[in-house]
Amino acid sequence: MIQLIRGFKDILPGETELWKHIEKIATSLFEDFGFREIRIPIMEHTELFARSIGEDTDIVEKEMYTFPDRKGDLITLRPEATASIVRAYIQHKLYAADPVRKFYTIGPMFRRERPQKGRYRQFYQINAEAFGVGSAYIDAQLIFMLLTLFSRLSVTDAHAHVNSLGCPACRPAFKASLSQFLSSRSDKLCEDCRRRSAKNPLRVLDCKVPSCREAMSGAPSVIDSLCPECGKHFQILQDSLKKLNVDFTIDKSLVRGLDYYTRTTFEIQTGALGAQNAVAGGGRYDGLVKVLGGPDIPATGFAIGFDRLTEITGLKASDFEQKPDVFIAALGEKSQAAAFEWNCALAAAGVKAEIAFGDSSLKSQMKRADRVAAPFVLIVGEKELEDGAALLRNMATKEQVAVPLDKIVETLKAANR
Ligand code: ATP
Ligand code: MG
Repeated sequence: MIQLIRGFKDILPGETELWKHIEKIATSLFEDFGFREIRIPIMEHTELFARSIGEDTDIVEKEMYTFPDRKGDLITLRPEATASIVRAYIQHKLYAADPVRKFYTIGPMFRRERPQKGRYRQFYQINAEAFGVGSAYIDAQLIFMLLTLFSRLSVTDAHAHVNSLGCPACRPAFKASLSQFLSSRSDKLCEDCRRRSAKNPLRVLDCKVPSCREAMSGAPSVIDSLCPECGKHFQILQDSLKKLNVDFTIDKSLVRGLDYYTRTTFEIQTGALGAQNAVAGGGRYDGLVKVLGGPDIPATGFAIGFDRLTEITGLKASDFEQKPDVFIAALGEKSQAAAFEWNCALAAAGVKAEIAFGDSSLKSQMKRADRVAAPFVLIVGEKELEDGAALLRNMATKEQVAVPLDKIVETLKAANR
């Protein structure tokens, strides 16, 4: 039998109900904050990701699904959504009337990482991105929006971690002092980190290899060398989070796995997921619109790990499972023909009816009605057809009433209101 690809997964009925519920809560909250949905393609030119995420990152170096299409152009299954949203913002000049635009999108991302609990090769993200606002207030607002979402989804263990990565004015000095620190530790670093320490030393701060983490204790931190503007920006972020009663931790090693971040970075972490503790991550990327060929417009955003989020909500798919409103138990050929018509008419009128196509005993049909947890069963056989009324049984109270055959749809519609 052909199985699915390693690291990929099916989301089955019984799970999709929870996914859909989360989407509904998230999108209505985001819309209240002024975000609008954007849908972007699943494939883009490889260069878009290489230029935005950064050549020396894990994602671009070893995780992208990249292949030549039939004409030889290199295309990549998107590993994240921000680059595509920025591309769309520039390509359609969405900044023209007003540079302030806010978008959200939900969909699959692809990274060829080692599959393990909470880490898939096709996983889903919920993204929100805000363009045209440089102020730290909106960063605080994004974090507040995330935590509001998590609390609406009964996530109890979620905590914000924040950091600032500075800007092109203060980053070079920091990079230099970090490089110097790294050269004193190079024998303790993994191969990737040794290779990256000269060119892109920030990447070393993000390495997950335990020996590298250990070697990095005592490393200089960006927030100690922020320029006055970045320092003020970071202070406003903290003050506004406090005003919103958001509990947060300043995490000097939070640099995130993508090169495009400036100033604010943040992650929402949870203790409920073991090693894969980040359930959302984001930050500011003030230079990216320009790097990708657009005007100089600041931007900020986040991505939620949808798969991980479904595992930490206090909600269960069974809370949203769809049950039929009525089960039609039809005995004999004539009744079945009538039941088939009611089934269609009921569904078209918004009443979910289940029916046993095929001749089985009343006992076995009642069993099936129980199994699908139908609150009502409509019983019809030869006798009921002759009498011109079917029996409607309330499965909770066991009460039975006769319903005239020509009133079935309206009676059930009323009963399910
Ligand atoms: P991690 O540190 O867990 O690798 P990341 O920094 O690579 O995460 P981002 O690129 O910022 O993650 O993506 C945002 C969120 O998407 C993460 O916080 C996580 O919840 C989720 N995510 C990232 N990679 C995967 C994956 N392979 N499988 C499932 N979820 C993922
Ligand atoms: Mg990662």
